[in-house]
Amino acid sequence: MTEDRGDHDVIVIGAGFAGLYQLIRLRDAGYDVRVLEAGGDVGGTWYWNRYPGARCDIESIEYSYSFDRALEQEWNWSERYASQPEILDYIRHVADRHDLRRDITFGTRVEAMRWDDVSERWTVRTHDGRSRTARFVIAATGCLSVPSRPDVEGLEDFGGELYWTSHWPHDGVDLEGKRVAVVGTGSSGLQTITAIAPVVGSLTVFQRTPSYAVPAHNGPIGRRLEDVKPGYPAFRDESRFSRLGFHCREGETGYFAETAAGDVRRELDDRWSDGGLCFTQSFRDVLFDVDANEALAEYVRERIREKVHDPETAEKLTPRSYPIGAKRMCVDTGYFEVYNRDNVSLVDLGEEPISRLTERGIVAGDVEHEFDVIIMATGFDAMTGALTAMDVRGTDGTLAEKWAAGPRTYLGLMAAGFPNLFMITGPQSPSVLSNMMTSIEYHVDWVTRALEYLRARGEHRMEPDVEAEDNWVNTTNDVGDLTLMPRAASWYMGANIPGKRRVFMPFVGGVGTYKQIGDGVAVAGYHGFETA
Ligand code: NAP
Repeated sequence: MTEDRGDHDVIVIGAGFAGLYQLIRLRDAGYDVRVLEAGGDVGGTWYWNRYPGARCDIESIEYSYSFDRALEQEWNWSERYASQPEILDYIRHVADRHDLRRDITFGTRVEAMRWDDVSERWTVRTHDGRSRTARFVIAATGCLSVPSRPDVEGLEDFGGELYWTSHWPHDGVDLEGKRVAVVGTGSSGLQTITAIAPVVGSLTVFQRTPSYAVPAHNGPIGRRLEDVKPGYPAFRDESRFSRLGFHCREGETGYFAETAAGDVRRELDDRWSDGGLCFTQSFRDVLFDVDANEALAEYVRERIREKVHDPETAEKLTPRSYPIGAKRMCVDTGYFEVYNRDNVSLVDLGEEPISRLTERGIVAGDVEHEFDVIIMATGFDAMTGALTAMDVRGTDGTLAEKWAAGPRTYLGLMAAGFPNLFMITGPQSPSVLSNMMTSIEYHVDWVTRALEYLRARGEHRMEPDVEAEDNWVNTTNDVGDLTLMPRAASWYMGANIPGKRRVFMPFVGGVGTYKQIGDGVAVAGYHGFETA
């Protein structure tokens, strides 16, 4: 293990996909780097989210590193969409292959960071009271890493087993034959519900808002990977310049103006039978035009009605209150069919809200439902949560204060008042609206190139101008407002966290467009940044 002297060129926070690649790039460039990771091993989101059925909703051929050409050829995924255990195996393999663990301190949670304008260094304090310093800090803390734990009355009173999908026990949980509740019907909830329904004695799902879901049509990867491998470099390049950071046939025509009714149906049927997140890319106005969006939504509602036998249950499962795509779409593998099972029932929290937990179970409406196990799949304090959970003090106050009315960044990479602090896939970058692997690699490469630029000039400080930051915040908001995305009470908006200011947080202009802007800024001598 490399000695952790405590003073480093760079501290990276987090050993998920972003932190590991950042370590590789900076170590190769000769920097002294220390990675601080709260978990017991590498993996980030894939280390913590071990719930039954956890699986990626981006295809395996796209959701992997592109920087290691030999690895890209050697690694074989088994399924079209990789499961959590397989992804974790992959990340561990990368850590072994590049001998990364020697520069990572595990089981160490960063609690505070303070910038010293005299020494021009960050002091980073961890939960064990230890302090380290670094010229640069890179927060590779993830967009969905701080669980949202709703303040439900009586949470402590429940006498059975209580689990969170975002912190699933490493030894697994025996659910066989038990009376189980799942609260939450986002991606984590849907996957958990589908996986455990055949195993448990009874399953009661507590749903606040129904989700739109498109079938995954998952299965063995077959020849798909072998077909891609010979042309992988060009394939990756296409992803880098695409809208979503992965291959997705983008609809070129508008829904009403330019498409005949028969063609619309054929297009939607084709996409539905292909499966996956590209469904919402069917027509170019789906995220802009209310009527086009409604037509697509109605197509999905019809499919739900076909799948669920009981019309009353089908109606409860049918999303109507927000535009399709405005909350993160789910990709499912037999989710709706689960409700045809005799051991599964649905509680619509719109009609019967949860009032409290008791020793025996959950009180919703007038009924106390009794359970052996309650599983909370209630989501995350997304995008800003991990950054504001730390006490980050820059030149003029804390990051939490600066972001009280919503995040303010330049390119989602840095914030004015916080010199030498970089964010990987920070708010106001494409991040969660893209294949995270494409966006992570782009940001890590961008940050590495920026540090190399400073070093070549004998400089050691970088910070965005307030004006550049203001412009970028306005651009991000303006582009978001062009779409229907702000019309849903989504975690993109911070709406799932009580008291969090509702602001549309990701950059919706597309990965390729964002790359062109980011590359242009760098080529123009880091336009909008002050360096010294
Ligand atoms: P989520 O999408 O935020 O879903 C949380 C669910 O819990 C929602 O149904 C929410 O209802 C409900 N909920 C929250 N607080 C509640 C409360 N107090 N009472 C009752 N219900 C409550 O979180 P997630 O499912 O963990 O997914 C988050 C994101 O992680 C996904 O959107 C996706 O980007 C990523 N993810 C991806 C995969 C994958 O690759 N397949 C898997 C899991 C997660 P409301 O909708 O009414 O707020």
